[in-house]
Amino acid sequence: MSFDVEALVAPEVLSKYEAVIGLEVHVQLATQTKIFCRCQTSFGAPPNTNVCPVCLGMPGALPVLNREAVEMAMAASLALNCRVNPVSRFARKNYFYPDLPKGYQISQYDQPVAEHGWVDVEVAGETKRLGITRVHMEDDAGKSIHEGFKDSARFTYIDLNRTGTPLIEIVTEPEMRSSDEAHEFLTVLKQTMQFVNVSTCDMEKGHLRCDANVSVRLKGAGKLGTKVEVKNLNSFRFVKMALDYEIARQVAVIEGGGTIVQETRLYDSETGETEGMRSKEQAHDYRYFPEPDLVPLRISDEWLNRVKSSMPELPAVRRARFINDLGLREYDAQVLTASRDIADYFEIVAARAGDARLAANWVMGDLAGALKAAGKEIAGSPVSAEHLGDLLVRMNQGEISGKLAKEIFPKMFESGEAAGTIIEREGLKQISDSGALEKVVDEVLRSNPKQVEQYKGGKTTVIGYLVGQAMKATRGQANPQALNKLLKQKLDA
Ligand code: ADP
Ligand code: ZN
Ligand code: MG
Repeated sequence: MSFDVEALVAPEVLSKYEAVIGLEVHVQLATQTKIFCRCQTSFGAPPNTNVCPVCLGMPGALPVLNREAVEMAMAASLALNCRVNPVSRFARKNYFYPDLPKGYQISQYDQPVAEHGWVDVEVAGETKRLGITRVHMEDDAGKSIHEGFKDSARFTYIDLNRTGTPLIEIVTEPEMRSSDEAHEFLTVLKQTMQFVNVSTCDMEKGHLRCDANVSVRLKGAGKLGTKVEVKNLNSFRFVKMALDYEIARQVAVIEGGGTIVQETRLYDSETGETEGMRSKEQAHDYRYFPEPDLVPLRISDEWLNRVKSSMPELPAVRRARFINDLGLREYDAQVLTASRDIADYFEIVAARAGDARLAANWVMGDLAGALKAAGKEIAGSPVSAEHLGDLLVRMNQGEISGKLAKEIFPKMFESGEAAGTIIEREGLKQISDSGALEKVVDEVLRSNPKQVEQYKGGKTTVIGYLVGQAMKATRGQANPQALNKLLKQKLDA
């Protein structure tokens, strides 16, 4: 539910203030195996089956760093324009929780894997550069599953399958100034992580988790206000709504003569409000210290360059290429780079069809419409990119008309069949053969004497009508160019 913030503070009061927002985002890396052991990271396995002495935190079991996780962290950091540190160090973050069997998380503290990055976002038609403070690697905890309601849980089950799954935490500078900027940042971040293939960023599966830090100050004030950290944000929409609520709440407190206390608050998506969870005094003291079981992580120039040179194209670069090399309009390029899946799909169609504009129109038009109606994602499209490309080739080569292509496409979507199969079975080939067309043309001329008269009298535009009649007679299978030519010949004779 969204909360009516005007109930907290009048818009003209709110507008005297400026919000300051910094995000801490956890992204689950898409490695095959866990960060410090060889257990699988697969989602949905029976509880407590993807575990071993290392991720269960058995005394004496030693962690071994997963190279793939490091390379994904490097790729993510490079995509966020960060400086990858040649030496970084793991640290123990100590706390007790039932789903954390080691009693500590292996994280990074004062020497993270990467720092000093940035991301460009578009807000209200302007580009704004937002700073990334740091990226660090860490292992995830397990999951507690509560049975019953919040206040009456009678059982809690522990599933340690997730324990030891690799995460990166991305911390931003406090440079966002509105909930819209935060929302846009998350959108770009997710898109970027997907493009470099380091995470699915599926929020429903917890592959992307976000905590938001927010404070307010009078516009023009130099000093930052006291920040509040908001947790339990399960979607980008909730991040935005929680921030809007929290900004209004803080302004109302200050306007009422109160002061903001530094605390952690939980967002309640039922009420749209945030509620206090713990204050600074109750904050954890994690007693960080260097992880004694792992050597410092050293990333050589050579290793870094190897990862750099195998980096996939980033969304902005791909967008520019779609415009400059493929001749797409800016808007189309934007839509077709919204996700890696759609960009990959489009490129296959365009290459097959040999016509990028036509491919763009079909992917954004007929395909997108059919997917939306069927509630499907492009990755699960019943029409493969190859099949769509093939349909467009047949159309471009005149084997089928555009009209026919529009009729064949839904059948392909329905059945998953190739265009050729449907054309063959239903006898939908375009009629270009002049003998067959001549018969049709003669018949059309015979049954439309009035239009023929008009044409001869100088009103040559009626030829469109006659073409239409001939198309109808062939159920759209006549080649319109051939038809046009033949009609002209006969009428002008
Ligand atoms: P902490 O020491 O509490 O971890 P950090 O300085 O490390 O705080 O910052 C944590 C997050 O909070 C970062 O994303 C940062 O941008 C953000 N942040 C820091 N100060 C403020 C502030 N005054 N208002 C809003 N966000 C802030
Ligand atoms: Zn394990
Ligand atoms: Mg901090």
